[in-house]
Amino acid sequence: MFQSRQGLGKVPRPLTFLLCLNCKTENSRPFKDGDYVFKEVEEKCPKCGEQRMVITGIYVREERQQAR
Ligand SMILES: [Zn+2]
Repeated sequence: MFQSRQGLGKVPRPLTFLLCLNCKTENSRPFKDGDYVFKEVEEKCPKCGEQRMVITGIYVREERQQAR
């Protein structure tokens, strides 16, 4: 789904949403290679310090180049 192509101008930067398995806090960070929905990752929850979170969604946020 996400094929890495480089050199074709601007690539939209997806955001990965993570849910803490301990306190259910949702957190987001820039998409990393290998991310997919429902994957468990070893990342620290900013709230409770738990090291296991699950990916709940990956969304692309388009950057606006020209504002009118
Ligand atoms: Zn937590």
